[in-house]
Formats: sequence, structure tokens, C-alpha cells
Amino acid sequence: MIPTGAARLAGVAGDPVSHSLSPILMRLWIEAAGLDAQYAPFPIAPEHFDRAVIGLARAGCVGLNVTLPHKEAALELADTATASARAVGAANLLTMKGMEIHADNTDIAGFLYALEPANINYDRAKALVLGAGGAARALVYALLTVGVTDLALCNRNLTRAEGLARDLAPGASLIPWEARDDVLADRTLIINATSLGLKGRKELTLDWDRVSPGSIAFDSVYTPLKTGFLTGAATRGLTAIDGLDMLIGQARPSFEAFYGQPVPALPDLRGQLVRYLEAS
Ligand code: NAP
Repeated sequence: MIPTGAARLAGVAGDPVSHSLSPILMRLWIEAAGLDAQYAPFPIAPEHFDRAVIGLARAGCVGLNVTLPHKEAALELADTATASARAVGAANLLTMKGMEIHADNTDIAGFLYALEPANINYDRAKALVLGAGGAARALVYALLTVGVTDLALCNRNLTRAEGLARDLAPGASLIPWEARDDVLADRTLIINATSLGLKGRKELTLDWDRVSPGSIAFDSVYTPLKTGFLTGAATRGLTAIDGLDMLIGQARPSFEAFYGQPVPALPDLRGQLVRYLEAS
């Protein structure tokens, strides 16, 4: 339906935000559910973030997804937060009840949703997480909650990986960036949580010949869907999972929080998003 003056307003805040797929995804669900709702992109510069969010709350906005570079600021701004958002140190979901702002991190659930079809035996998994930024923190937190105990962390800036380990995973081993290929033979779940591979950036290169058959590769990047990382993993015959289902998985609880109902079933949702990405 066409949104009326009574439409529930939510959106996504980022800088930039024009690349975000969230407005397309949310619109598909809003239309399928027949909701009187609007989901808008809000480009907000870091120096205006707090005032803009408070202004939106004052104007009746029911919630926001938050993307780069605002995830830490979103957590700091909120009046209340889930324990998981606090542990990760970042929020990608703000919900507003009047002027009360609540923070959550649904990247954690989104990542696990994306891994579901791979049927991973987490107790036995030997994970390698490449990256130590906000996404890596959420992914490491997710892995710990499902019982992964064997975790290796590798980041270009090793001090940042040390901080991640100290905050979330004291038992993790730390791998210098230059030594990443040397640990591959031992790893069964290899995760790109860096921004390498994003459209316009360098690719993340790994010596895939060293990876054991049967291992699983996950790339948090979804633009493009086929990164060099995933192509390398697929060529080696591994299960290669892109970041699109993580995006869908983090958006589901967001939709439910904004509009108060479960996401409608859309059997070809992924196909529609893939076609949109391929055409854009
Ligand atoms: P971030 O906080 O900016 O962290 C970026 C990470 O990439 C850091 O670990 C950084 O290493 C590393 N990196 C950047 N350039 C590099 C280079 N040239 N060589 C080696 N490492 C490099 O970003 P983020 O929020 O964690 O996001 C990371 C990725 O996750 C992005 O691609 C984002 O799109 C994706 N993501 C996807 C979803 C989804 O739903 N699929 C959700 C959230 C995030 P240093 O610490 O050494 O700088």
C-alpha cells in the first residue's frame, strides 16, 4: 500500500548510506505484509549523529538500523542496550519508544542465520576470523555463543586483534597478518570480516590450496556477491557463503522490532536481491 500520514517510519543511518541494500529489502517485506510503513535512508555525518537520531525520535521515528561509521556511537547514545550489544561494543539496531532509545546488535543473529544451511558442528570447528573491526567483534561473539572454542584471530593491525581477544575471546590465538596462510591447513571455518573484497577495494588473498577439503568459507561482504575470497574457496571445492544472507538475517529482527510483526514469507527474497545487485 502507499504509505499514509499514519505510516510507521523507520530507516537506516550511515555515512554514506546510498549503497545500503536495507531500504530495498525492507520495502519488499513492507509490501508483502501490506503495512502502512516507510523505511528511509538517512545519510548522517558523524558530527550530527546524536542530534539527528534524537530529532528523528522526536519526530516519531520508531527505529533505525545503523551502519558504518555509527555503530559504536549508536551504542553510546542509547539509554538501554542488550548485553550482547554491550559485549560487542557496537549496535546496528536502535528502537525508539518515545524518547527512550534502546540498542541491540542483530549482526550476531544475522551471521548465524547465514551459516545455518552449512550445518556446522560448532563444538569441533576451528575458526579463523580475519579482521578485528565492528563486524569481526559481532562474528566472534556469535561464534562463542554457539560453542566454538578453537578460535584464531588475524588482523593487519595486530594490536586491534589483541584488543578483540582481551574483550571477548581471551583464549583465542593471535596470528600476524603476514602469517595467515601458514595456519590455513588447520582451520575448518575461515571468515573474512575485513572490508577487503568490497567493490572498489583490494581483494583478500589466501593460499586456498593449503585449506583442507570440507572446510567452510564465509565472506561478510555482499557487494559484490562473488569476491576473490569466495571464488578462491569455491575453486578449492569448499562451501562458500556470501554476506547477503547475513544482511537478511540481521534485518529480520529489525523489521519485527520496527513494525511489530514477523517478516512475511518471501520464497524468492534472496533471488530478488541478487537480481537487484547484479543490475546495479
Ligand atoms: P571496520 O570496523 O572498518 O573494520 C575493517 C576491517 O578491515 C579491519 O579489520 C581492518 O584492519 C581491515 N582492513 C581494511 N583494509 C585492509 C587492508 N588493506 N588490508 C588488510 N586489512 C584491512 O569495518 P566493519 O564494520 O568491521 O566491516 C567489515 C566488513 O563487514 C565490511 O566489508 C562490511 O561491509 C561487512 N559487514 C557485512 C554485514 C552483512 O550484513 N553482511 C554486516 C556488517 C558488516 P585494520 O584493523 O588493520 O585496519
